[in-house]
Amino acid sequence: MSYQGTSNPIFILGDDAQRTRGRDAQTSNIAAGKAVAEAVRTTLGPRGMDKMLVDSTGEVVITNDGVTILEEMDIEHPAAQMLVEVAQTQESEVGDGTTTASVLAGQLLAKAEDLLGRDVHPTAVVEGYAAARDIGTEAVRDLVLEGELDDDLLRTVAATSMTGKGTGDVNAEALADLVVRAVRHVETDAGANRDDVRVHTQVGAASSATELVEGIITDTEPVRDDMPRDLTDATVAVIDTKLETRETSADVEYNVTSVDQLNAALDAEESELRRYAAAVRDAGVDVLVSQKGIDDRVAAFLADAGVLALKSVKKSDVVAVANATGATVVGDVADIEAADLGTAERVHVERFGEDELTFIEGGADAAAVTLLVRGSTTHVLSELERAIGDAVDVVVVALDEEGVVPGAGCAEIVVADRIRSEAASIEGRAQLAADAFADALDALPRTLAENTGMDPIDALVDLRAANESGRAGLITSGERGEIADPVAHGVLDPAAVKREALASATDAATMIVRIDDIIAAE
Ligand code: ADP
Ligand code: MG
Repeated sequence: MSYQGTSNPIFILGDDAQRTRGRDAQTSNIAAGKAVAEAVRTTLGPRGMDKMLVDSTGEVVITNDGVTILEEMDIEHPAAQMLVEVAQTQESEVGDGTTTASVLAGQLLAKAEDLLGRDVHPTAVVEGYAAARDIGTEAVRDLVLEGELDDDLLRTVAATSMTGKGTGDVNAEALADLVVRAVRHVETDAGANRDDVRVHTQVGAASSATELVEGIITDTEPVRDDMPRDLTDATVAVIDTKLETRETSADVEYNVTSVDQLNAALDAEESELRRYAAAVRDAGVDVLVSQKGIDDRVAAFLADAGVLALKSVKKSDVVAVANATGATVVGDVADIEAADLGTAERVHVERFGEDELTFIEGGADAAAVTLLVRGSTTHVLSELERAIGDAVDVVVVALDEEGVVPGAGCAEIVVADRIRSEAASIEGRAQLAADAFADALDALPRTLAENTGMDPIDALVDLRAANESGRAGLITSGERGEIADPVAHGVLDPAAVKREALASATDAATMIVRIDDIIAAE
């Protein structure tokens, strides 16, 4: 294409570049974004359905989790890709509410299309949406339940986040209890650190065998079978260098001209390896955790000395073991000092089918817990892992941040109401956009109603009426849906999840609306 100035045209794009401008660009972007949101809509809420995703290699994922669906779908359209990012932001910021955020973003786009068609300028749409988001954020804050978050309430929040996800043969309450105990265990005055609650999945048992381990699990087994497999009050050393001869690591060449020289060289090598093992033994180490390799001969010496050694341990596990036991990660075993060592109440190795796992429990320095998640098949296990991951996230977020609000569509209805009544003070056409934002929010309780098999229009009318006089949501229990108090029925979501959904959906929708020119290189 060319730019027609006063003099000669200036060519700025290649011949093959595709260009779509103005309303066409908006329409195409909006359609793509809406299509993506629509794909996850039917999974919302406790009666939401699952999706089965099959990739080009035939790999199957079965899930109800918004962000997982969007990530597994092979989405190429750039505007649609922005909706995937909404879900990803939601997941990384607060860990739950990915379907909620995507559905809201899709609705905001649908309403924006309407507004643009009625000649509302994109800038007014952007302004109105931003104003509505701010009113909504304030309204979420006002909905936060008063009082301290006790374990009962936290279990409720955890269970709410897991409903609708396939949790195998365990009920959400039992898992919620494990999750709350896990988070409470690592909680300090400064709050709970999400990373201190680890999740380890192990296939081969019913989901109900899922348990809480007060420590770290690494899927590495002792380097040799003749090493100890169960130690109490163990002294732990953590290293991140190889225990092999320098030769292999630094390419030293021996110039061997006689048998004597060869023997001397081998002796030198052997004594170097022996020194490694002796250094470990002399430091009083019971358990050696190494991020790198350990030479077979060193391993034999270590086994002789009664040391349980693990090699090629994942970096994240190495760091976790060091943190929990109070050990410092050392580079050279010759330098190990007493201060570098950590301790654990018990280190033991357990066999699970084909695999052996090492448990490092009761570290002296920091509380770390692992939820050992079990499932009969890898599909069951993956979905359970996602459900438990979400539950840990919401409990941490509820404790750390802004508290909890009533779920089951109650928050959305109240927030939409508040936006409608305050939108009146917004000047110009942006007011239309703020009203549209409120209508977009209605889609969430409407979708919950649809997915429960209730009549969506009646449900919405009744829900609004019920909220005039009290607090009400669309509570699903078993096969039925009814309008009732979410707090009394234990359906609670973290306020941060709702706040983040308003923010990320608004960001994506306004970004897409602002685009009026798509230039694609071929
Ligand atoms: P998301 O990815 O947005 O978290 P979910 O499928 O997990 O999507 O659904 C979350 C919504 O379901 C929240 O609004 C939550 O309050 C609601 N919810 C959870 N349990 C119930 C229930 N028993 N009855 C009605 N709504 C529920
Ligand atoms: Mg959820």
